[in-house]
Amino acid sequence: MDTLCVVPVRATKRGEERTPLDGSHDVLICGASFAGLAVARELAGSGADVLVIDRYEIGERQTSACGIPTEWLRATGLIGAERQRFDSLLIHTPHGDTRFRLPWTFSTFDYRELCDLLWRQCDARFETAKVNGRRADTSSQTRHFGPSAEISVETDRGVISAPLVVDALGWRRLLASGDGYQPPDAPLSRGLEVHPEGSSEDMELWIDRRYVPAGYGWLFPAGDELRIGVGSFDPRFHVRETTELLAEDLGRERVRYQGNWIPHKLRRATEGDVFFAGDSAGHCLPLTAEGIRTALYFGIALGRELRGVVEGRQDRQQAAAAYARFNDSHEWKFRWMLRVQRLVPRIPPRLRAPLIRFMARKRIVEWSFGHYLRIAPPELAAGSADDEDRADEKQHNAEHALGRDRDLVEAE
Ligand SMILES: Cc1cc2nc3c(=O)[nH]c(=O)nc-3n(C[C@H](O)[C@H](O)[C@H](O)COP(=O)(O)OP(=O)(O)OC[C@H]3O[C@@H](n4cnc5c(N)ncnc54)[C@H](O)[C@@H]3O)c2cc1C
Repeated sequence: MDTLCVVPVRATKRGEERTPLDGSHDVLICGASFAGLAVARELAGSGADVLVIDRYEIGERQTSACGIPTEWLRATGLIGAERQRFDSLLIHTPHGDTRFRLPWTFSTFDYRELCDLLWRQCDARFETAKVNGRRADTSSQTRHFGPSAEISVETDRGVISAPLVVDALGWRRLLASGDGYQPPDAPLSRGLEVHPEGSSEDMELWIDRRYVPAGYGWLFPAGDELRIGVGSFDPRFHVRETTELLAEDLGRERVRYQGNWIPHKLRRATEGDVFFAGDSAGHCLPLTAEGIRTALYFGIALGRELRGVVEGRQDRQQAAAAYARFNDSHEWKFRWMLRVQRLVPRIPPRLRAPLIRFMARKRIVEWSFGHYLRIAPPELAAGSADDEDRADEKQHNAEHALGRDRDLVEAE
């Protein structure tokens, strides 16, 4: 019965361990995955009392194929979690296969290890608690950071308050006031994958209506594990059967299922004095559904703004305005990616193979993948986002490092 879906027991505090958590903190970060941990990392050493909460223990629940540009792992000090590295992408269509030689390498990583490494860069406190939503504000206190009313969050372990609250809880955007998405009537894609044991050399994609009319199938090898899945841009298309079909076509076991909704539209970065990062802000890129590096990218940018508040360089309103500006400055890039996402399924299947072959030409790949990486460049992890000169210098260094990566892969 390889299709049997076993519900795993997730590590979290249960029963008597769930003592009340009521209290007030300088910063409350809800969600301890990529975006939430990236925010916490930027607050390390600031002296702020930072509480991170999640319904599960850190690193407990993987929800992705865990693919990311290698340079992001290096820039964030997370390279230790890397499982496999790729310098090419093999795309299959019913009318032929094409290999893209990438100008930078892509890696798969181990989710738990990456979260552990990220957490080691933080000095926040962590508790497991399920967030139920925002509590209607009853008080308007002035705490340390200027005229900032505290925001109260209801959890299953009590009400927790802070003047600085981050929603990094994923696509549900639980702490927003009323613009929640209700799938399938929302700009969300559907993604599901299986994780059989096995190994493979290539990172592969399938653009094939047999698996999904609008979207793609993938195989991401990660050492001794394969991540095989299907993503549909159309939230009404169920991907379970075709995920199983792809696994079957590849002769792999259909085990260890995991899936989620994937936002494909940028949303407001702040709302009602709450800050949003990662999937809660629609930071996952349309077309590719790459949301890890962008969750880290926007999480780091937000963490820096919040650090400015706890260190007294700005107040919450200024931080909110700066973060919203940063978020909105990316809007046109997300819009373009969404346009292409909508266009690709309309291209007649027989034209897709020659078009993909054309796109795989060296100069076009370098141009398109270069721009694509620049949407959320790894240099941000190492320095200030608005320091152009330093960014250019780091870009230069990064390009050298990327060159070394390719040599490394070729040597292997
Ligand atoms: C099948 C699939 C494959 C994917 N593959 C890739 C990939 O290879 N590369 C890539 O870049 N992107 C991939 N993505 C997208 C990527 O997973 C997301 O964009 C990314 O995880 C967003 O990070 P995040 O921190 O914003 O949210 P999440 O990773 O979703 O984290 C949200 C956190 O909030 C917690 N939480 C949620 N609700 C509550 C609650 N009520 N109370 C307390 N805690 C709560 C969760 O436990 C979780 O820890 C994939 C997505 C899917 C579905």
